Amino acid sequence: MDIKFHGVEYRYAAGTPFERLAITDVTFHIPSGEYVAVIGHTGSGKSTVLQHLNVLLQPLRGKIEVGSRTIAAGRKEKKLKDVRRRVGIVFQFPEHQLFEETVEKDICFGPMNFGVSEEEAKKRAREAIHLVGLPSSVLERSPFDLSGGQMRRVAIAGVLAMEPDVLVLDEPTAGLDPRGRREIMELFHSLKKENSLTCVLVTHSMEDAARYADRLIVMHKGRVAKTGTPRELFQNRDSLTALGLDVPETVRLQYMFEEKLGQPLPHLCLTPEELAQEIARLRGERP
Ligand code: ADP
Ligand code: MG
Repeated sequence: MDIKFHGVEYRYAAGTPFERLAITDVTFHIPSGEYVAVIGHTGSGKSTVLQHLNVLLQPLRGKIEVGSRTIAAGRKEKKLKDVRRRVGIVFQFPEHQLFEETVEKDICFGPMNFGVSEEEAKKRAREAIHLVGLPSSVLERSPFDLSGGQMRRVAIAGVLAMEPDVLVLDEPTAGLDPRGRREIMELFHSLKKENSLTCVLVTHSMEDAARYADRLIVMHKGRVAKTGTPRELFQNRDSLTALGLDVPETVRLQYMFEEKLGQPLPHLCLTPEELAQEIARLRGERP
């Protein structure tokens, strides 16, 4: 499903003394099947953008297109269920939203809320729990007896069980250990590849943005400051530091290496694997 933002503006507490402009003039296009990372300093408007994707927030100016549906400012939008079913959001710390007695009930809640039969929902719960790498025995347990990492996976399974076309992830690995982070990111990566899901990821990790995203949207002070492929954007470190961001560690390492070497490498390396290969090549070895 294509997603388009046209000049979107949103203010919290609009019309009150506490009014706060969160995003303005936000325009971008995410083609179906693309994996986009939204990066930017804290407070730059990333979460506000995401909440428009399944119309938890509605623009105060401009409009959004999600598939064939248009959500415009100043209109009373009805029948949002279909958009909400098709755009699954994994919020920051999604485990805080678990509430049922068993994991199975928790995962079934979303699909059943959207009219899926209990039998079908249970089938989806089994599939989803498998997808997130947990044993089906977890389904009978209380979500509150699980570890933090397991709870996170259960919450993600709940979103997957809705079988969304678009997966929206707001810092889905925040607070997990490095292994848990890697596993969750690999899960989204394979979901995207196998099911041609459109993925929109908010992350603080330039490493994840470099490794997984097809394209980056850089937010700064409520506006889209830049868009481009990771290679295009990480090519230019100064323009990122001006926005309070930096390049991935591998790219920093490459710059240091080039400085010691006194010559640039032929390619910008976005992952440690690429850099290792490039250095091996430089030493005349087979990669
Ligand atoms: P990010 O996700 O990039 O950290 P947010 O979208 O959360 O940014 O916030 C954008 C701006 O909107 C910030 O200035 C933030 O303080 C403000 N903001 C976010 N949520 C609220 C809210 N519920 N009420 C008032 N202001 C908010
Ligand atoms: Mg946020």
